Amino acid sequence: MFFLRREEFERRLRALRDQVDAAMVSPELRGWNSSRPPVKPLGRHLLSVSELASRYCPTMRDVYLRRIARISPPPSFKMFRGLVYHFIINQLTTRSKRYIFERGKIPGPELFKLLLIDEPVAVESAVRDASTKVQVDEDEVRSLTLLASRLYRYLALQVASGVDLTQSKFPHVDVDSLVNESIPAVSEMKVDGSLVGLSRELSVDIYTPYNTVIDIKTGDIRSFHRYVGAGYALAIESDKGVEVDFGVTIYISVQPSAPAPEVKADYYLIGDELRREFLELRDEAQLLIEKGKDPGMPVKCPEFCPYYTVCNR
Ligand code: SF4
Repeated sequence: MFFLRREEFERRLRALRDQVDAAMVSPELRGWNSSRPPVKPLGRHLLSVSELASRYCPTMRDVYLRRIARISPPPSFKMFRGLVYHFIINQLTTRSKRYIFERGKIPGPELFKLLLIDEPVAVESAVRDASTKVQVDEDEVRSLTLLASRLYRYLALQVASGVDLTQSKFPHVDVDSLVNESIPAVSEMKVDGSLVGLSRELSVDIYTPYNTVIDIKTGDIRSFHRYVGAGYALAIESDKGVEVDFGVTIYISVQPSAPAPEVKADYYLIGDELRREFLELRDEAQLLIEKGKDPGMPVKCPEFCPYYTVCNR
């Protein structure tokens, strides 16, 4: 399962599934009910999931700054790192699938070797792509390049091992199933969230055939990250008519001195409460944009807010 051990992933989802059976998601809170409140948007502005879910600011001044004052958060190493890691994950997924489709039932070590040959190009493309969006200094680029290589190698090893495990368990597996069993994820799935007031071209980090959305974070753990799952669930349900009941946030930390990246996972049910809270955030943000007024600052700003230096000059 790439970052997650399949057995652990399935065990955790089974436990959540028992909860969803006991506390079904209310039909009016499914994304396909976008013509009726509370899913129906109050305003006409389409918002990204991350700008709603990243609730650093209790007064939503971040939304005002981005949408009305047209001020972007200053570039930071964290942003740069996030872009690079996401690019690497996407590269690994597509390159691995391509090799399996091209070469058929390839042994894991052979796939690993091929992926390693691609490493310099993949890492360089990731850093170059991120540099066009976020400017950081050369030292930061150098240190990130090293970390990106570590992440790439770690993921290449996981994919190769997954391919071997699948072929060992199912010796007669065909190529299509080998890909689905070993890399069972749609990476950067495009979703039109406009029916529920979200952007027309959302990108879901990973979507699995388990009615689950996976979001990858490269920074600290924050309680509001679960709103990302709620936003994508509503969008997928409205656009594709498929139920999404579960979310997983994967936190990746790559340290120069550690032998392997640290991976933590938060599994959660995308139930009524989370859906309602996300919809309230969406409505509040849309009304704020329509009024166009600065909502002011909270009593205390968290120092990790991306706008901290803008608001606290
Ligand atoms: S710095 Fe403070 S006021 Fe500005 S967006 Fe962040 S939390 Fe809100």
